Amino acid sequence: MPAANARQAGTSPEPTRNIPTDGPATITSQAFPPAVSLRVIPRDQHNISRKDISPNALRVLYRLRDSGFAGYLVGGAVRDLLVGGHPKDFDIATDATPEQVKALFRNSRLIGRRFRLAHVVFGREIIEVATFRANVDDGSGDREQHEGGRLLRDNVYGTIEDDAVRRDFTANALYYAIEDFSVRDYVGGFEDVQARSMKLIGDPEQRYREDPVRMLRAIRLAAKLGFEIDPASAEPIARLAPLLSEAAPARLFEELLKLFLSGNAVASFEGLERFGLLPAILPETAAALASNRSGALRSMLLEGLRGTDARVANDEPVSPAFLFALLLWPAYCRALIGLQAQGVNAEEAQRRAADRVTLHQLGTVALPRRFSLPMQEIWLLQSRFSSRQRKRVMRLLAHPRFRAAYDFLLLRLTASSEHAEDVAFWREAQTQSGEELSAALGVAAPRDVYAEDDAAPPKRRRRRRRSGSAAPATE
Ligand code: ATP
Ligand code: MG
Repeated sequence: MPAANARQAGTSPEPTRNIPTDGPATITSQAFPPAVSLRVIPRDQHNISRKDISPNALRVLYRLRDSGFAGYLVGGAVRDLLVGGHPKDFDIATDATPEQVKALFRNSRLIGRRFRLAHVVFGREIIEVATFRANVDDGSGDREQHEGGRLLRDNVYGTIEDDAVRRDFTANALYYAIEDFSVRDYVGGFEDVQARSMKLIGDPEQRYREDPVRMLRAIRLAAKLGFEIDPASAEPIARLAPLLSEAAPARLFEELLKLFLSGNAVASFEGLERFGLLPAILPETAAALASNRSGALRSMLLEGLRGTDARVANDEPVSPAFLFALLLWPAYCRALIGLQAQGVNAEEAQRRAADRVTLHQLGTVALPRRFSLPMQEIWLLQSRFSSRQRKRVMRLLAHPRFRAAYDFLLLRLTASSEHAEDVAFWREAQTQSGEELSAALGVAAPRDVYAEDDAAPPKRRRRRRRSGSAAPATE
């Protein structure tokens, strides 16, 4: 069995004790590629304070140290703390194997098939503890590569240097040491954070080819942190965008949720546009926006994303169904207009447009049915806001998706003032009692035309209203 496989099976790697805490500030290691040099940023030269670190993460760090292992806070948490942010999770890297970590913490479990990790569980908080790992080709044969350079397996343990260089961005490869509260930097990440720059470690094109999702991460993290993407890391993105179609649709779904439901949706969307990634992840929306000369659909989308960001900022819940209804609305409108132009009747066209757009999008992003069904309902309910027939009004008000569909109608006002009257009616309707509403409808809608459920409004009138309301003017 090759050495690397033995390690994979859980035998301890050489303990990584190659970082002297009291040594010179800079030492050079010849770790296989690239050569890395360690810079130690002492406590008085950075702003990370223990009081900003989760007490549970501190507990894990201290227990690892007291048991003779190396343990560092690493990744997003160190980066976020350096820019004064509040990390949402605290990850730890160690030279202890997952089994050794498991033995140290009764409240831990091992997860992951491809690469084993320990989760140390403290109530609702989970501290992820990962053994230093490498993904460099060290000739052990324990790494397989896709022809295009995509990484299929990266499951060998390594040194802390290996662990640093296999990370994506320099800002994500900083290690906070509990023994002296210093930050350890092997790849120049500390300077890049100060310069507010997202920079890939190593050759950008190669790193994107290994894992195209890194392109989305560059945009998301730059949007979140207010960083610029370093020019050399930005350049290949538009060119390599089509590689995203090779990424797992389930992973892209998760990544889209992070892009748009973490409070930086507007900046993320603008980043996707600016770096040419929109056609790769939302192809039909990108095409619909490009052909919408007035820009009304884009304004509506951005308005919706602004609302999403405001909700996140206020700790209000946000729903993936509403988000995707918004992101795919331009595609839906375009499909609907196309079908209606072919003479398909309004109701049938709405259903088919909703199905077509959903199905098409599933080719890139795995949108689970528990989100795609309510997303479609939000779309299909739009055409029902033009009705003033008493029973239909009551039924729509009682619909479980009414609120979301109404909020969506409000957003559509940004694209077209044509819905102002409907918005006014439904705003009022929600505040009225059943009797008040009936009375109001009785006055506004004489019995002979609207009152009976089965006595639908005259066909010509209904068709005109429905199609007008379902498909906003897009040019
Ligand atoms: P956030 O949690 O704020 O979204 P993060 O950087 O912590 O950002 P995670 O997905 O939690 O993102 O990943 C944790 C760390 O793992 C990263 O900081 C980075 O060091 C490393 N990492 C994550 N994804 C990749 C990747 N695709 N390629 C290489 N390293 C990665
Ligand atoms: Mg994280």
